[in-house]
Amino acid sequence: MTNRTIQKENTFCAHNYKPLPVVLTRGKGVWLWDDAGNKYLDMMSAYSAVSHGHGHPRLIKALTDQASKLAICSRAFYTDTLAPFLEKLCDMTGLDVALPMNTGAEAVETAIKAARRWGYRMKKIPQNKAEIIVAHGNFHGRTTTIISFSSDADYKADFGPFTPGFVEVPYGDIAALEAAITPNTCAFLVEPIQGEAGIVVPPAGWLKKAAELCKKHNVLLILDEIQSGLGRTGKMFAFEHEGIRPDGLILGKALGGGVMPVSAFVARKDIMDLFNPGSHGSTFGGNPLAAAVGLEALKTLEDEKLAERSAKLGAYMMGKLNAINSRLITDVRGKGLWIGVAIDPKLATARSVCEKLMERGILSKETHETVVRFAPPLVITEAEIDWSIDQLKEVLAELEPKAA
Ligand SMILES: *Cc1c(COP(=O)(O)O)cnc(C)c1O
Repeated sequence: MTNRTIQKENTFCAHNYKPLPVVLTRGKGVWLWDDAGNKYLDMMSAYSAVSHGHGHPRLIKALTDQASKLAICSRAFYTDTLAPFLEKLCDMTGLDVALPMNTGAEAVETAIKAARRWGYRMKKIPQNKAEIIVAHGNFHGRTTTIISFSSDADYKADFGPFTPGFVEVPYGDIAALEAAITPNTCAFLVEPIQGEAGIVVPPAGWLKKAAELCKKHNVLLILDEIQSGLGRTGKMFAFEHEGIRPDGLILGKALGGGVMPVSAFVARKDIMDLFNPGSHGSTFGGNPLAAAVGLEALKTLEDEKLAERSAKLGAYMMGKLNAINSRLITDVRGKGLWIGVAIDPKLATARSVCEKLMERGILSKETHETVVRFAPPLVITEAEIDWSIDQLKEVLAELEPKAA
């Protein structure tokens, strides 16, 4: 069954992913089941999209209740679900106005448009000269404009010509950021912790200094918290670790409560007011189904104290990972329940670790060939973490080259 299903998917689906050979059919909380009934602990959470856990009862209820009333009608009309959702979002982020979209990349595109318009209309940058500073190793999505400023050759090969107007600086380097700012810089777009780059945590204090620099030079600080936000790092938003607030914030993934795509760009009123009817839009953005689910996703994060849980259990898991004595591990890093374990490429591939974890009932995915990601749903328990650590220890012992 599994082999035939995989073969068929490989026949009819484009090969833009390289999945592990498991066919999933069901999920509940932190657990997933394959087509043979085997059970797996989900250490991926769909890149943070499933932070609430699979099939959370409150989110399933919000989804089905709203679907049976009104699901889609476009923003050609007002709906009774959008305002409560966006009010909650503004309230939680401390920002003023939100623009709802669907996927993360669309919300990033929205932020880019907002930053450029602000640059021309408020900062008086000459037409078509606006520059946005981005970080080396960034991941902001897959549209042609967004890959234009990716530093990963695989993301770009033969997809040009690329969108101009982006300047790259090393991640976590405050001097490089200051040197890159020109009178034409409208924004610094960055992840507070780089997810796809391998869960790269910048030096403490860097984001705070970056925020001060942006303020000093009249540059917007726009944070992409699509993956780091909504409790993943042990705070509701990663920017809270440094006591700052961005001018614009991009959210997605967990905003959809693990049941559908919901994203948003949230910003100060003076930035968002530069959008007028006709300047931007999305057929599905802010639809009643998404708004009802988004609101419930936010409320559930608060009610279940999932950010606090991520801080506590993340520290617990980090301690356990750090205590593992294996030559294969070169680094353990992260914040909250978002941890990357770097594997020495001379001894084993991260992929081989993931394949062996899968055989033992843990699903994770390597990122950038050398890092194994541990990002479970935030509802995971201490006992489940203990079990996963035991499995990882066994896998590392199996892969460890025997002393000659
Ligand atoms: C996943 C991700 C995106 C893109 O989101 P999609 O929903 O896949 O378009 C953008 N930025 C960051 C930081 C992400 O992790």
